[in-house]
Amino acid sequence: MHEPVRLLDVQVIPGDFGSLGVLEASKHMGFEARRVYFLTDLPEGARRGAHAHKTLKQCFVCLRGSVTLEITKGDFRSVLELNDYRRAAVLESGCWLDLRSFSKDALVLVLASREYDESDYIRDFSEFRLWEQGRAADPAVPYLDLKRTDEEIGLELRQSIDSVLSSGWYIGGPAVAEFERSFASYCGAAEAVGVANGLQALFLVLRAWGIGPGDEVLVPAHTFIATALAVTEVGATPVLVDVEEDTGLLDVSLVAALVGPRTKAIIPVHLYGHPVDLDPLVELARRRNLLVLEDAAQAHGARYKGRRCGSIGDAAAFSFYPTKNLGAVGDAGAVVTHDAALAAKVRQLGNYGASRKYLYAVEGTNSRLDPIQAAVLSAKLRHLDDWNGRRSEHAARYLAGLSDIAGLQLPATRAWADPVWHVFPIRVADGRRDALDEALLARGIGTNIHYPVPVHLQPCYAGRWEEGQFPIAEKLSKTLLSLPLNPTHTPGEIDRVIEIVRELLR
Ligand SMILES: *Cc1c(COP(=O)(O)O)cnc(C)c1O
Repeated sequence: MHEPVRLLDVQVIPGDFGSLGVLEASKHMGFEARRVYFLTDLPEGARRGAHAHKTLKQCFVCLRGSVTLEITKGDFRSVLELNDYRRAAVLESGCWLDLRSFSKDALVLVLASREYDESDYIRDFSEFRLWEQGRAADPAVPYLDLKRTDEEIGLELRQSIDSVLSSGWYIGGPAVAEFERSFASYCGAAEAVGVANGLQALFLVLRAWGIGPGDEVLVPAHTFIATALAVTEVGATPVLVDVEEDTGLLDVSLVAALVGPRTKAIIPVHLYGHPVDLDPLVELARRRNLLVLEDAAQAHGARYKGRRCGSIGDAAAFSFYPTKNLGAVGDAGAVVTHDAALAAKVRQLGNYGASRKYLYAVEGTNSRLDPIQAAVLSAKLRHLDDWNGRRSEHAARYLAGLSDIAGLQLPATRAWADPVWHVFPIRVADGRRDALDEALLARGIGTNIHYPVPVHLQPCYAGRWEEGQFPIAEKLSKTLLSLPLNPTHTPGEIDRVIEIVRELLR
């Protein structure tokens, strides 16, 4: 455990007319002060504190005199004397704190991350220990807890949102432009156009390419519904391609036979964060005059033979739905491409089809990335590689810990892939998936199924395809189970999932 208390240097600027002491949220404290209080006029032998805060973080500066802080958290215990305003103590949440041995002249300034809230206090030490034990003993592993990202980088996110609020730009503007620039550059592509969501990113590219009724677009049979919906939304016909069993990805060897005179494009989906084998696909597309639209909604940062997903096809669609590897705090998406004309067309279509203000060249729609989401995404983009790294570590733990279990198959990784593990899908031999899923749930382990009903069997597409037409996609829908894997999970949580899966499948 890292230490729950941190000493920091207060920035003190001396001058001819006295000294100026400064503490800033991001540079020093790591949280924003919502409440400031001070302790003074303390009688001899005064003791304060003697309570814990569940979520409040505090920063103590002894401006005059001295005070002793006694901090307890789990096995950690620390006694600190503060007697110099140049050293401040930052205390994280969940600590029991006693303040004692005040000097007579003591003046202690405290900056707190929240306003007063009685329900945040624990005022009895044995109750505090019980609360701590309850937290430590709670073995539940959520499939995903998005609040943890806020706990990790909440200050950065709030500052990003704040900068948009105070800028007065609530549609478009610098926050959107900055994110588009940095995301394009991250992907290794010339252009990124922010749009409302991932489905719109797919849809707008197909529209910009002029794909519509009478045209066919190849789509994997095993994917999130949005991939197919984008095709039907422009009025074109999705032609489904079955997938590989060990990766769940589009089976490139089946594609050539499905290309016909009406085929205009193909949408490889880098499902689960693993890139599709793009070289042969792009080569075939060139020969047959097809466009390649990468659905990279689950593959932010993944690499195919060293190149980022999203930079290889003619265009790519990204989703920043909150659960994705790079997620907003609402809906958001982007189109990424090397093609400046396509980017301009997508931008125009997403802005009502306007060619200039109040003049509409084409029938467009309203599909814009909002600046608050853009600002959040710019902040999170700086952490993406680190987060993807943690995902890979968790995946490596699962691959090692679950490798030798009969009836359980692990996701394959191709030699040319640097996947980003959007999910960790295991396959459980016929008939046992649902039982394992229920047993895991009963043990407090969150899971998901990506996806329980394949595209061709969705009620919205009734009559288009038949059961049995895409056997691998059907088999996967009955055997796949996604285990918790997120950068905010701890290695201990992953180990716990491994232990319980092993126990249940023994
Ligand atoms: C999430 C997702 C989409 C759609 O993104 P939204 O932002 O939810 O519209 C498209 N394709 C795939 C593969 C996805 O996972």
